[in-house]
Amino acid sequence: MRRVSIFGATGSVGVSTLDLIGREQGRYEVVALTANRDAQGLAAAALACGAQMAVVADPASYPALRDALAGSGISAAAGEDALVEAARAGADWTMASIVGCAGLRPTMAALEAGGTVALANKESLVSAGDLMMRTATASGATLLPVDSEHNAIFQCLAGSALDEVARIILTASGGPFRTRSQAEMAEMTPAQAVAHPNWSMGAKISVDSATMMNKGLELIEAAHLFPVGLDRIEILVHPQSVIHSMVEYRDCSTLAQLGSPDMRIPIAHALAWPDRIATPCQKLDLARIGRLDFEAPDEQRFPAIRLARAAASAGGAAPAVLNAANEVAVAAFLNCGIGFLDIAMIVEDVLNRYSAPTPLSIDDVLAVDAEARAVAGDVMERMTV
Ligand code: NAD
Ligand code: MG
Repeated sequence: MRRVSIFGATGSVGVSTLDLIGREQGRYEVVALTANRDAQGLAAAALACGAQMAVVADPASYPALRDALAGSGISAAAGEDALVEAARAGADWTMASIVGCAGLRPTMAALEAGGTVALANKESLVSAGDLMMRTATASGATLLPVDSEHNAIFQCLAGSALDEVARIILTASGGPFRTRSQAEMAEMTPAQAVAHPNWSMGAKISVDSATMMNKGLELIEAAHLFPVGLDRIEILVHPQSVIHSMVEYRDCSTLAQLGSPDMRIPIAHALAWPDRIATPCQKLDLARIGRLDFEAPDEQRFPAIRLARAAASAGGAAPAVLNAANEVAVAAFLNCGIGFLDIAMIVEDVLNRYSAPTPLSIDDVLAVDAEARAVAGDVMERMTV
């Protein structure tokens, strides 16, 4: 029995993970499930899988969680410290699928505990990649990428030495606005931005896919997970999302991982690794798909890619600033407070206004994150006056 915990259990990745666990009776035992504030959803998930504990980040949701779990034997807790404690509660395998930098502390705690961490929460790696990778090495934790591209790269590498790698080719769907002009994008609403053509995901990552900041964050994520050098990581637009990424070796042999665009495939890979489990996902029918298309990314229409690459090569605090500014701008866009094209403009403005020394601890990263959020708030206030 593998003992598993899921951080962000009520989200898109969390629910997919629970779905797979529910299909493998007797193979997984659930230690902890967490959510932000959806006490009812979390309690229902905890009861369904027989979790030992359930934790909400927001203390205001605690009474509802406690009442929903009364008499079940499942313990209820709330608050940031309780999340960190849950990450130390003895799971062998932890799904890190909280969205945003809010996942940083629990993800770090799970890495420090030294088990296997399946990482979906890319924002924590973008903001604190060096510290996270060092922590994993020191504790002996295994970090398994869940992001479909990084999971594909991990599978294509199959343990090969990184100095055999000539290029990593990170594929991108191009998002819902791939063929839209700048003028059209200026008018796009949150509902249009979250309607991804291939993947069903949470709101924040869906907007990131529309701006292509998602690919920018994934570039930084790849540079930490597979340190071949930034100049060896390329982005290739592939609208069908069938090839999830590729690795080209120095002998010019290129390996690709293919599959239907269903997150349960990379999640299943991480859940069972190094074994495999069956999934209910659609098998790939290439005859029906007929053709696969590719094009170079357009950094004029999608400046987020350029901003992320610049932040990655600057290193230090820059990726944490980029990520924090993006989180604030995406939240404002989803609340209809700013336009779609403002997102990348705000990120660029914050990167120009605020720089900080290289963070040496998680507290440093969180201080940079907080300051960058304040600067982003300031930038947005000036836009509206
Ligand atoms: P989501 O919005 O559907 O779910 C987010 C989860 O995090 C929820 O359980 C929510 O309760 C929890 N959460 C939100 N804010 C929190 C906070 N402040 N403190 C504690 N918990 C909080 O998001 P998602 O689409 O499942 O994405 C989760 C992560 O996985 C993101 O980092 C995303 O980039 C990454 N990812 C998602 C997909 C996908 O297909 N959805 C694919 C690749 C990577
Ligand atoms: Mg991805």
